[in-house]
Amino acid sequence: MAYLISEDGRELLKDVKDFCENEIRAQVKEYDESGEWPKDIYDMAIEMQLSMMDVPEEYGGLGLSHIDQAAIVEEIAKADAGIAVTLNGNGLALKPVLIAGNEEQKQKCCDIIMNGGWGAFALTEPDAGCDAGNSKTTAVKEGGEYVINGRKCFITNAQVADFFVVTAMTDKTQGTKGMSAFLVYKGTPGLSVGNHENKMGIRTSITSDLILEDVRIPEENRLGEEGTGFYTAMKTLDLARMWCAVIGVGICQRCVDESAVYAQQRVTFGKPIWKHQAIQFMLADMEIRTQASRALCATAIDLADSGKPFTTEASAAKCFTGDSAVKNALDAIQIFGGYGYSREYPVEMLLRDAKIFQIFEGTNEVQRMVIGRAVVGSHKI
Ligand SMILES: Cc1cc2nc3c(=O)[nH]c(=O)nc-3n(C[C@H](O)[C@H](O)[C@H](O)COP(=O)(O)OP(=O)(O)OC[C@H]3O[C@@H](n4cnc5c(N)ncnc54)[C@H](O)[C@@H]3O)c2cc1C
Repeated sequence: MAYLISEDGRELLKDVKDFCENEIRAQVKEYDESGEWPKDIYDMAIEMQLSMMDVPEEYGGLGLSHIDQAAIVEEIAKADAGIAVTLNGNGLALKPVLIAGNEEQKQKCCDIIMNGGWGAFALTEPDAGCDAGNSKTTAVKEGGEYVINGRKCFITNAQVADFFVVTAMTDKTQGTKGMSAFLVYKGTPGLSVGNHENKMGIRTSITSDLILEDVRIPEENRLGEEGTGFYTAMKTLDLARMWCAVIGVGICQRCVDESAVYAQQRVTFGKPIWKHQAIQFMLADMEIRTQASRALCATAIDLADSGKPFTTEASAAKCFTGDSAVKNALDAIQIFGGYGYSREYPVEMLLRDAKIFQIFEGTNEVQRMVIGRAVVGSHKI
């Protein structure tokens, strides 16, 4: 099942397919090995407005429907999940602004992205990952300013970002209700970025610490009311999980594509390996997981688009797709046999890339907690 995309979406998808084939796939192996940020590829993606897909039409964006966007994101993820994560990073940074920001803040951040800039969402800290409410970063009000101190870690796009959404405690006595969200712009004194993490996978994305030392920002940079930062972050993650799942589907599909071709080329015991039932069943299970993942994404997108609650569905899509991407990548390696274990072939990278989809934007344990609570909540006795 493909997403049912519009005519305009289909046109853009054709260009995206060419870009993926001729630029991303042609170069990605080299960048995966070096761990270098592929600026030339991102410059082309900006040119094609692929970093701007999350900007709403009323703020100058492309006006793509979420379904069209999903088809495009999956296509990019099929070519390279790290590039899809980076482009999606702009959406991750923009979502809290669109959820909680005022008109001026929304327009400013959208303009940055439409002009080829980048954003980053900085929630995680060394002692606050799954337990995001345990944030140690503080924002203290002094006159018309906030002074922010703390350290964020694993922040996607931090090294290239022009604006950051930073969460910080404005009142530690209130727990998660004492967290607020702020816009901090690149170049603000006291703001610095740590080293690029040398990651296992999605190596074409850039991930770094963000250090805030006496960072002074005007009160107007607060997103929403004081104390609403945790709520904004959780709402952001609902949407982000949906997109994370869409990227995961790209990995699932790539595993199927690579394996289906290889299984016809490789001959053992006088026949192509796909004719052995063990391999055929593995291919079938990979396809089932891919279709089921895509269907879960479509359900979450549909609910989000119609303004209905979709937290559980986004978590289910993220969790199932992350697990499926890892399983499909393992099966792809198995189908390739010894060659699957070699860096000369593409499938080992798919496993390294897939693993992060069980970890970021809320680990799959956290997703199961969210889903489990919702199931019990809807069956109150
Ligand atoms: C490549 C990459 C990019 C990232 N990008 C961003 C970003 O842009 N912005 C951002 O803010 N963050 C980002 N993150 C951070 C990411 O969201 C966190 O790493 C993730 O939420 C997990 O937090 P943690 O690493 O502190 O793990 P921990 O919270 O320490 O968890 C460790 C383990 O314990 C389990 N666990 C924890 N608590 C429970 C519980 N109550 N019940 C059951 N199991 C539990 C977890 O599931 C996990 O298996 C990124 C991380 C990576 C690796």
